[in-house]
Amino acid sequence: MDFEIPEKTRLIIGMIDEFVDKELIPLEPEFLNTSFRDLLPVLEEKRAMVKRMELWAPNHPREYGGMGLGLMDHAFVSESLGRTPLGHYVFGCQAPDAGNIEILYLYGTDEQKEKYLRPLVEGKIRSCFSMTEVELPGSNPVMMDTTAVKDGNDYVINGQKWYTSSSDGAEFAIVMAKTNPEAPPYLQASMIIVPCNTPGFNQVRNIPVMGEPGTDYFGHGEILYQSCRVPQKNLLGSEGHGFVIAQERLGPGRIHHCMRWLGICKRSFDLMCSRASERIMTPDGKTLATKQIIQAWIAECAADIQAARLMTLNAAWKIGKLGVKEAREDISLIKFFVAGVMQNVVDKALQVHGGLGMTDDIIIPFFYRHERASRIYDGADEVHKMSVARRILKGYAGREVK
Ligand SMILES: Cc1cc2nc3c(=O)[nH]c(=O)nc-3n(C[C@H](O)[C@H](O)[C@H](O)COP(=O)(O)OP(=O)(O)OC[C@H]3O[C@@H](n4cnc5c(N)ncnc54)[C@H](O)[C@@H]3O)c2cc1C
Repeated sequence: MDFEIPEKTRLIIGMIDEFVDKELIPLEPEFLNTSFRDLLPVLEEKRAMVKRMELWAPNHPREYGGMGLGLMDHAFVSESLGRTPLGHYVFGCQAPDAGNIEILYLYGTDEQKEKYLRPLVEGKIRSCFSMTEVELPGSNPVMMDTTAVKDGNDYVINGQKWYTSSSDGAEFAIVMAKTNPEAPPYLQASMIIVPCNTPGFNQVRNIPVMGEPGTDYFGHGEILYQSCRVPQKNLLGSEGHGFVIAQERLGPGRIHHCMRWLGICKRSFDLMCSRASERIMTPDGKTLATKQIIQAWIAECAADIQAARLMTLNAAWKIGKLGVKEAREDISLIKFFVAGVMQNVVDKALQVHGGLGMTDDIIIPFFYRHERASRIYDGADEVHKMSVARRILKGYAGREVK
């Protein structure tokens, strides 16, 4: 693996870093003290600036208005944008739209691409992904109650979902529902595009998460599908192939998430080191940075971040060389490892700030609250650990080790 970042990518990252520092980080106090919806007009202005700089939608296809960066290049971009919670949204590469764009591009019909994919890449609309159910384990999604039953030319959808992130204000949802209950478990569900203004698409609430119900893009919806009727042409890909497509959505998505988390690590680490260097703890001017225990945290966090970063870049490189299937183990490893590193780095950064670390005068508590979920979504830690261990142990079955 070549560790050299290409000149063109370095240039792009330099521009993005500068934009994040000058245009987005200064918006954070307002972001923390107002609702996301109230911030939308100013975010629209920033998005227009990004488009003028030709940095819009870095990972999305050129033919639809993106920059068409490959997985490896976008990994660096995602790290740079991850330093602020506003980064990915302002550059048009935010989850869950990014994953939906990938699957619409791969599986959408021409009509679906024009109607949903193009305006999504252009940032004119938003979308959401509706798979997890309130009453059934998301970790074993074949247990699914939501059904889509054929009636004439339509599907009629019934079910209760939650954590349909960013459904508030979205134009459409990609919904996982059982269409083929008689088929083998992993071939029972399909993905169906449901415009959010369809009668029977009922947004019950934005779920309060760690004290915040959120608004608009920064909300997680609970959705009740009640006889929600959409034309059969809204099926995405083949009927019964919902889980196959879902797997496709998660591979590169995990690289983007992990690099975003590394951006969070970098920001938290910078804040921690800066605070430790400035905070005077004794009358003779000794700072927190002179304490050995703080020095040990800083060294340990630096090592953890570097390990997590190299593992993630290696997984991205492997996906590029060998494909998602061959890189499955690496993807599982980074999913739980990087999330754990991030949680520890954010926690240490918070601790170093003392009482200030608990206030919304700085960004760290936002990361602390909202990024805890990283160990749950896209496969909980335990699920990834078990799957990696099983694969490792398979290689030892019947093998004598001396
Ligand atoms: C902030 C956030 C955003 C999300 N966004 C979306 C979204 O946009 N769309 C969507 O469809 N879903 C979304 N989700 C849902 C997410 O995918 C699920 O929460 C996740 O799959 C876990 O499912 P569950 O919550 O039902 O927990 P369960 O499946 O009930 O698992 C609970 C816990 O059990 C443990 N566990 C699970 N399986 C095993 C095992 N095999 N062995 C040992 N322990 C195990 C884990 O610790 C796990 O956390 C989001 C969740 C969060 C928190």
